[in-house]
Amino acid sequence: MPGFELFGDQERKQVNDVLESGVLMRYGFDGNRNGHWKALELEKAIAKRMQVEHAQLVSSGTSALTVALASAGIGAGDEVIMPTFTFVASFESIVAIGAVPVLVDVDDTLTLDPKKVEEAITEKTKVVMPVHMCGSMADLKALASLCKKYNLLLLEDACQAIGGSFEGKPLGSYGDLGCFSFDYVKTITCGEGGAVITNNERYKTNADHYSDHGHDHVGNDRGAETHPFLGYNFRISELNAAVGLAQIARLDEFIEIQKKNYTILRNAIENVEGVTMRKVPEGGVENYSFLTFFMPDEATARTTQKELVANGVDGCFYWFDNNWHYIKKWDHLKDLKSLGKLPEEVKNGLPDYHKADFSQSDKWLGRSISVLIKLSWTEEEVKQRAERMKNVLESVPETVK
Ligand SMILES: *Cc1c(COP(=O)(O)O)cnc(C)c1O
Repeated sequence: MPGFELFGDQERKQVNDVLESGVLMRYGFDGNRNGHWKALELEKAIAKRMQVEHAQLVSSGTSALTVALASAGIGAGDEVIMPTFTFVASFESIVAIGAVPVLVDVDDTLTLDPKKVEEAITEKTKVVMPVHMCGSMADLKALASLCKKYNLLLLEDACQAIGGSFEGKPLGSYGDLGCFSFDYVKTITCGEGGAVITNNERYKTNADHYSDHGHDHVGNDRGAETHPFLGYNFRISELNAAVGLAQIARLDEFIEIQKKNYTILRNAIENVEGVTMRKVPEGGVENYSFLTFFMPDEATARTTQKELVANGVDGCFYWFDNNWHYIKKWDHLKDLKSLGKLPEEVKNGLPDYHKADFSQSDKWLGRSISVLIKLSWTEEEVKQRAERMKNVLESVPETVK
C-alpha cells in the first residue's frame, strides 16, 4: 500500500522546485514563486484523475472529512452514519463539528450494511459516510438509493481505497463528496495531506474558504480579502503538495503493481478449505492495497493470524483486536473522554455504545484477516509469501480443531 516505498527522482524534482523559490505557502507571493503552484496543480490533477469538477487539498485525511462535512453545512446535533470498522478519524471529524456519530454494523464487505443503515436513519440524520476500508468498497449503489429516498448526503471516505472504482467511477466520486488521505502510509503519500472531491460548486467554494480561515480568495492581496463566514486553518503546504504531485502521476502504476502482487497471493489461498474471501460489491474494483479473507470462526482466525506472522508473513492484521480501527477498543468515544467540555448536542445525542449490539460486526471482524500488499516486493518474494500463506492456511484450521 504505501507510496513511500517508491520515492524517487520525480518527488525530489517537485520538492526542489518549491525549495528553489522558497515559497512554501500555497497562496500569495505570486512574484517569488517562479510560476510554481503545486497545490493548485495537484488539485487539477486529482480532479482529472477522479473525473470530478473540483478538488480541495487540505492538511490531512481527517481534515478532509471535517472540511467536507462543514462545506455541506453539517453542524451541531446533525447525525452522521458511519461504520463500526474504520479509522478513528471518522468519528473525530464528526465530533469536531459538533455532529453526532451514529455507528452502524458492517457486513461481509467489511463496510456499512445498507439494511442496518436504513434502520438507523432518524429525523436528525444528514449524512451517510461509508468507509472503503482496506482497498475495497461499500455497496455504493444501495447506499446512494437510500440517500436519495431519505434526502441524505453520501460522503465517501476513500482514504484507504484511492484508485479503486465502483460502476466505472473512481471511488470518492460516486457520492456527493469524497475524501482522500495522503498520510505517510497511504497508497499515494505526501507526508501529511488530504483532499475533498465533489461536483458541487458550492461545496467546493465553501471548502476552499473554510480550510483557509474563511478567506474568499478574491483578488491578489490576502490582507484585503473578506471572510464571508468562520473558517479554520486546514491548509496544505507547497512542499507536501509537491510530493503529492509526483505521487498522483504514479497512482495507476502503483495500483498495477498492487494488483499483480494481490493476484498472486489470492490465487494461492482462495481455494484452501475453510478460507472465504471478503465480499466485493457487484460493480466494484478494488485498489488491491490489502488482501482480506475470513476464517471459519474467531478462534481459528486468531490462531491463523499468529501463525502467519510467526511464519514470516508480516503486515498481517487482525483488525478485531486493533486499538484504532474497531469499536471494541474505542472506550474514549463510548465515554466521550475529551480534554474540554463537548457540545451538549454531542453529549446528549451520542447513543450508549457500551450497550449497543454490534454482534453482526463482531461476527465478520472476528473471522477476518488482512494482509498488506507492498509495492517493493520482488516477484520471488511474492511467490515465497504466497507459498508460506498457503501452507499456514492449510495446516492451521486442523490445529485448532
Ligand atoms: C488514514 C485514514 C484517515 C485519516 O487520514 P489522515 O491523513 O491520517 O488524517 C481517515 N479515514 C481512513 C479510513 C483512513 O485510513
